[in-house]
Amino acid sequence: MRKTVLITGAAGFLGSHLCDKFISEEYRVIAMDNLITGDLKNISHLFQLENFEFYHHDVTKFVHVPGNVDYILHFASPASPIDYLKIPIQTLKVGSLGTHNLLGLAKEKNARILIASTSEVYGDPLIHPQNEEYYGNVNTIGPRGVYDEAKRFQESITMAYHRFHGLETRIARIFNTYGPRMRLNDGRVIPAFIGQALRGENLTVFGDGSQTRSFCYVDDEVEGIYRLLLSDYALPMNIGNPEEITILDFANEIIKLTGTEQKIVFEPLPQDDPLQREPDITKAKQILEWEPKVSRREGMQKTFEYFKNLSKEELFKSEH
Ligand code: NAD
Ligand code: UDP
Repeated sequence: MRKTVLITGAAGFLGSHLCDKFISEEYRVIAMDNLITGDLKNISHLFQLENFEFYHHDVTKFVHVPGNVDYILHFASPASPIDYLKIPIQTLKVGSLGTHNLLGLAKEKNARILIASTSEVYGDPLIHPQNEEYYGNVNTIGPRGVYDEAKRFQESITMAYHRFHGLETRIARIFNTYGPRMRLNDGRVIPAFIGQALRGENLTVFGDGSQTRSFCYVDDEVEGIYRLLLSDYALPMNIGNPEEITILDFANEIIKLTGTEQKIVFEPLPQDDPLQREPDITKAKQILEWEPKVSRREGMQKTFEYFKNLSKEELFKSEH
């Protein structure tokens, strides 16, 4: 008998890659999305499969699916700073009400649930690299607070269901992940820089570019999430690539990768933009025997190929 997995946020970047992974592992996949930031083209190749079905549904409303469900992966949420600044209330609702609905469904179905948490629970971190014991440094009322606090609430209510109801829960603290199917205009740094290079625009580095991030290729991230789901570890776990780089160095890498003749221009740093970020993945290495395998060079090459193949219309389409 095939196991059944429900994936929310399935038409988004990570959700669609998770659908591919679970299909390739022979699961029956129920995909759910309200398409607020996602796109059906990310999963359209799965529509003809008999073990794949799609529900167009907003998970902040009561969630019901018929039949047996073994696993739930709750990935629905705006995920890029400009998305969650544009739709702050929906961001808070999907992390709180949406998570509550899915925990309720998991309880009803006796399913194991994994929630997509984030490095943003650490806020602008005061320790480096960040390990899971760090409580974080979040500005609750700042513009990013809608995302960070929704995710922190999500972790709290998930642990409450685990402790109070004995629900099988998993919490993945995902660090910056990239790859094909990111939305060109979602404002995140990789589609932003590659899009600018392809359109012949200057690359916009925010601040002086000394802030750091550590980028994980999507195939590695999906494998880490998959292993966490199947593990017996209920506390939060960092899943990310510890290879850290400054945003200025990264802009220069993308100039080389794309061969653009454009320059770097500096723009103001958004409020509460974390100054440094690098996951401590000791736990994932020990417990999941997982660590990233794809180098930034290889991952960025694949990502660039994807964006290069988009139509001119998509490349110049502006949502913001
Ligand atoms: P994405 O925007 O590509 O995908 C999110 C999906 O959720 C979209 O398809 C959107 O339409 C859907 N969605 C949003 N609100 C919904 C609702 N109320 N009901 C149903 N569907 C809804 O973003 P992503 O990068 O794929 O992120 C997926 C998850 O992973 C998010 O929970 C995000 O917080 C988390 N995460 C991602 C990263 C990253 O680097 N990509 C890092 C940390 C955490
Ligand atoms: N950034 C930038 N130029 C851009 C978009 C982003 O310099 O056009 C910076 C941003 O200020 C941040 C880093 O790149 O320091 C990563 O931003 P992203 O939105 O990708 O992710 P997050 O801040 O959520 O880690």
